[in-house]
Amino acid sequence: MNQNLPPERNKEIFDVVVVGGGVNGTAALRELAGAGYKVLLVEAEDLGSGASGRSSRMLHCGLRYLEGPDPIRNAIRHPIRFARALHMARDAMQARAELAQDETVGTRAIELSFPIWRDGPFPRWQLDAGLRLLRLIGPSGVPLDVKSRDADAAGTHPIGRHLRDQDALRGMVSFREYLFTEPERLCIDNALDAELHGAELRLMTRAELRGRDVAGLWRLGLEGPGSITEARALVVLNLAGSWADGLADFGKRLVRGTKGAHIIVRLPEGFADRGIATMHRGGHPFYGLPLGQDRFYFGPTETPFEGDARNVHADRDDLAFLLGEANHLLPGLGLTEKHVEQCWAGVRPLTEDASRPMGARERRVHDLAPQGFENVLAMTAGPVMSLRSAGRRMLSEVVARIGPPKARATISLGQTTQAPTDAEALAVTHEHAPDLYAVLARRTGAVWSGMVSREDAARTADTLAPLFGWSAVRKASEIEAFLARQETEFCVPRHNRKEPDQPAMQP
Ligand SMILES: Cc1cc2nc3c(=O)[nH]c(=O)nc-3n(C[C@H](O)[C@H](O)[C@H](O)COP(=O)(O)OP(=O)(O)OC[C@H]3O[C@@H](n4cnc5c(N)ncnc54)[C@H](O)[C@@H]3O)c2cc1C
Repeated sequence: MNQNLPPERNKEIFDVVVVGGGVNGTAALRELAGAGYKVLLVEAEDLGSGASGRSSRMLHCGLRYLEGPDPIRNAIRHPIRFARALHMARDAMQARAELAQDETVGTRAIELSFPIWRDGPFPRWQLDAGLRLLRLIGPSGVPLDVKSRDADAAGTHPIGRHLRDQDALRGMVSFREYLFTEPERLCIDNALDAELHGAELRLMTRAELRGRDVAGLWRLGLEGPGSITEARALVVLNLAGSWADGLADFGKRLVRGTKGAHIIVRLPEGFADRGIATMHRGGHPFYGLPLGQDRFYFGPTETPFEGDARNVHADRDDLAFLLGEANHLLPGLGLTEKHVEQCWAGVRPLTEDASRPMGARERRVHDLAPQGFENVLAMTAGPVMSLRSAGRRMLSEVVARIGPPKARATISLGQTTQAPTDAEALAVTHEHAPDLYAVLARRTGAVWSGMVSREDAARTADTLAPLFGWSAVRKASEIEAFLARQETEFCVPRHNRKEPDQPAMQP
């Protein structure tokens, strides 16, 4: 515990309380616990249940920050914006190098291709220049493996041959991109690592910032299971993502949410380990990416979102838009609603910015002292891929405010990730899964391989019941709750959902 804390204080007192068990909260928790601080994580639901479990799953190299329209004129007109984009691109390359080489992080390399059409969104020189710049500013060690194809080679490429306007196709620029295989697991592994270093976890518990006690410690109300209803801390990290504005009345808005939806389809073999990238007709980046086996996803959308991000789901408009854009890009596939197996959506916790109605994409750390919240910090727009630097940044902010921890941790970080022998049981006994949904969606990732049937959900519930101590009635209600939630979060929004299995498409 930090020397600044009065020694007589009991176990509800922490150096730091972290609110939010997404990538940013758990990354901060991991660094803080690893450094030796006494820390508590409060998560309203489950680890990874917010945006972190609903992203596009890309560990992207940062090219998108450099590929706006008319980049040279824009760089000259808006040098500060360009410098910021360069900074973000460099951070992305650093995160890529760090995570792709970290064996404890599940990533897979794919070949991502940008098609080049006459009058298309990207000229070849622009992509070549962007990738060259990334090579210059990024660390070595994880090469980009850039390949530039001419029109003939693009037309015979397994994805390229399905592209629209083959007559106007000038080629493709491809490079090595990485995807997270299980982004939600990053949150779980971070939290377990932190726990190994003494961090306490309170899941299914909503935190509320109540003000300071006479000693100047922040008081946090804890609403959820467990006898302790209030925690106190020297520092509070508000890493509640889209819900950051709800922790207290900060007198200014922190977050601007935008919704992003995806569809999952089954595609021919040649699509495995390959992806395609372009701008959709609404002017935002649009990807087709492999999910695993012969499944592939298209997305994301980008629409304004107000309200509780907990209730976000892909709707019929999202489905129509994504199918329309996928078919516009790859008409050769002839995708229809029947080919869509699953959908998902999330809300990006972007930064509120009066000059940008869709929010600012730069990660921002908010020191809330000027609003009367000294030693309360928030973070917005922190992507999954920069979780490690987010954790280190929050550690340095804490050190700057309350000094270094008294005791140094003796075990190094990254010791917890082991291949589980029985993933379902381990989810309950070691990984704090609070319910059946948490096991199938975030611990074993079963829902990402296809809709889980009632029979399979019941089988898992049978395994888990003795570990959770569920009665037969409770087990039945867990199964129903799982199926209802899976339907909301992953099911294709169509009227007749019980359709026979669709045959795989022929290339
Ligand atoms: C459609 C989409 C696509 C994206 N694609 C990518 C991508 O390809 N690559 C990438 O790197 N990033 C991507 N992102 C961005 C990334 O997912 C988010 O920026 C990141 O996950 C935010 O993490 P977080 O920890 O800040 O927030 P979250 O993951 O939302 O976590 C916040 C947590 O706080 C909890 N919480 C809220 N209020 C309280 C409270 N009062 N008490 C206790 N707990 C509370 C919530 O339950 C939640 O679990 C994408 C996001 C979306 C939505």
